[in-house]
Amino acid sequence: MVDLMILHGTLLTMDIQRRIIYDGAIAIEKGRIFDIGTTTELNSKYNARRIIDASRKVIMPGLIDTHGHAGHSLIKTVAENVGDDWVSIVENFYKEGTTPDYWYIDGKLAALERLKFGVTCGVSYLGSCARTDDPIYGIKHCEGVSKIGIRDILALGPGRPPYPNKYVEWKGNVSKEVYASFERNLEVTEDIIQKVKKLNHRIDCTMSPPSITIGSLTKDGRVRDLPDVEEKVEAMKHVIEKWNLKLHCHAYSPQIKFAADKLDLLGPHVSLVHCTGLLKEEIHILAKTDTKVCHAPSARSIIPIQCPVVELLDAGVTVSIATDGSSPDRTFDLFKELRMAMTIHRTFFKDESFMPPGKVLEMVTVDAAKTLGYENDLGSLELGKKADIIIIDMMKPHLVPFFMIPQRVAYEVSGQDVETVIVEGEILMENSSVKKVNENSILESAQEEAENAIARGQLEKYLEIPKGFWGKSRY
Ligand SMILES: [Zn+2]
Repeated sequence: MVDLMILHGTLLTMDIQRRIIYDGAIAIEKGRIFDIGTTTELNSKYNARRIIDASRKVIMPGLIDTHGHAGHSLIKTVAENVGDDWVSIVENFYKEGTTPDYWYIDGKLAALERLKFGVTCGVSYLGSCARTDDPIYGIKHCEGVSKIGIRDILALGPGRPPYPNKYVEWKGNVSKEVYASFERNLEVTEDIIQKVKKLNHRIDCTMSPPSITIGSLTKDGRVRDLPDVEEKVEAMKHVIEKWNLKLHCHAYSPQIKFAADKLDLLGPHVSLVHCTGLLKEEIHILAKTDTKVCHAPSARSIIPIQCPVVELLDAGVTVSIATDGSSPDRTFDLFKELRMAMTIHRTFFKDESFMPPGKVLEMVTVDAAKTLGYENDLGSLELGKKADIIIIDMMKPHLVPFFMIPQRVAYEVSGQDVETVIVEGEILMENSSVKKVNENSILESAQEEAENAIARGQLEKYLEIPKGFWGKSRY
């Protein structure tokens, strides 16, 4: 007797041979994949406590979103028209306009969105620059995500220089300024890691400085001089080693060369987001050090200069596709992002043979698992791996006829077509109905908290329709 069997589906296993099993079945026991084969084979071997019929449906590994932001869900589209100022607006808002409730409700909303889009594991960077003046904010995010049940990797670490950073604590309508140094940010990071370990084994933490060189780039694209960067990196490495963490952060050229030459920071446990404008030498460094790349095709940073995904893949670098969700202008729908990745790189090379459907499906499953170091447990449907599985309903006008399944999934499926989501053998959504929480009450509380937050952060003016919105070719 096994815990659960899924029968009669078309299995996109994403295993090493990329097997597709028609009239396929999976047996799940104690949260892991116990057996996999055809329905006839598995039916002859096992009885199950619970059976799901997946006729005319696709069964595939849960998607893995290798980069997104905690905090973004409640301020989607706010200030979308202000260009580069957006980063400082949201960064100030996170530091000065958010409360523990904000992070709790945002965590629930973001995880609910990911769940409904079939994302069973996602990175959540704690803000736009980590809110680590106090552990409460990170913990509340994790408590929110825990209610939904998907996996989360909380990315946290030091704030952006110069230090100390100013933050605001709210008690009701009363606010108080607080300051946190680089060292305080690291203490809070350790405190959160310790508490999260006890809270929920589906949540992991990763060290995430604001960028791979800690400081941002100058306006003319040089690495900003941070006088004691080596000392700060040593302090960060100490925490990474102590807690056996990975390193995950934004990085752009020429920071990668700087991180390799001056900081000795790259390696297989490092995943870098965006990686736009890379020099040839930097592509070689990433390949040589087995550093991973998270490509976010909807991120605005790729508009002025692209991430050389094709060149990185050709050099043997592991590249995943991420949402960078969900502000100011995107969602956590990874199916949409893999299509965006195909379109922008095909357009760049003026050649539709680039980024084949099979490759982009790998980039949100097996390659994404490898990017985050979970390849032994996640990313494919194979014996012994964790049972993180999604089922897609294909009986819809945009998905029928039922053939060329991997192509159909890559080109035509959207997040809303995901019908059932299982994490570690636990059914979190079935027939589009979310199991552990009341979806409507989360949406209502999100609406209320977003309205409070907009008022607290004085963001009302960024909700208005801006000048040049209608009838013009540009703002
Ligand atoms: Zn990001």
